[in-house]
Amino acid sequence: MIPRGHGVPISFPSPGTPGEGEGGGSSGPSTRPPPQPSPGVPEEGGAPVFRIGQGYDIHRLQSGGQLILAGIVVADGISPVAHSDGDVALHAVVDALLGAIALGDIGEMFPNTDPKWKNANSRVFVDAAMQEVRKRGLTVVNLDVTILAERPKLKEFKQRMIASLTEMVGGSVNVKAGTNEGCDAVGRGEAIAALAVVLLCKSGSAG
Ligand SMILES: [Zn+2]
Repeated sequence: MIPRGHGVPISFPSPGTPGEGEGGGSSGPSTRPPPQPSPGVPEEGGAPVFRIGQGYDIHRLQSGGQLILAGIVVADGISPVAHSDGDVALHAVVDALLGAIALGDIGEMFPNTDPKWKNANSRVFVDAAMQEVRKRGLTVVNLDVTILAERPKLKEFKQRMIASLTEMVGGSVNVKAGTNEGCDAVGRGEAIAALAVVLLCKSGSAG
């Protein structure tokens, strides 16, 4: 519980160049301190450039085939129902990356009606999304992924999944794995889901 009424006021970094913001501030004349440079973070217009994105994906599970998560084969004899390889973790990561750069979603970029993506290794989607990220001079600060699956137990694969994702996107990567406590289709083992949050910043090396 967060007690009300006696918290320390939270201060946020000043957004962007004065006069270029979204406007509509309701706090009257600005008393904000000027933007402070962040060590190691390149600046643009006096303020570091950050972009955040979140992604979510879910696939039904079926018997047979392989279950691939974050590019790692974690189980045989079970697989997602999908047009591509159904890597739910990578799909959530792609949506987070595309979200951070306001580029729509994975379905728009790689339609599941396109035969080109039939049984595709989802790594190609991540590579394409990262290409767009780098094109904008951005790099991954950190990526946080949560995978929800009743089976198999993923604990033993976490380090390999982290290594795999780090190799794909860079930055600081974390993978969390849990069950859905028996609730809904994920909890009944009929589906697998993943969530991802990514923070990007200006790399300073690209225009
Ligand atoms: Zn998917």
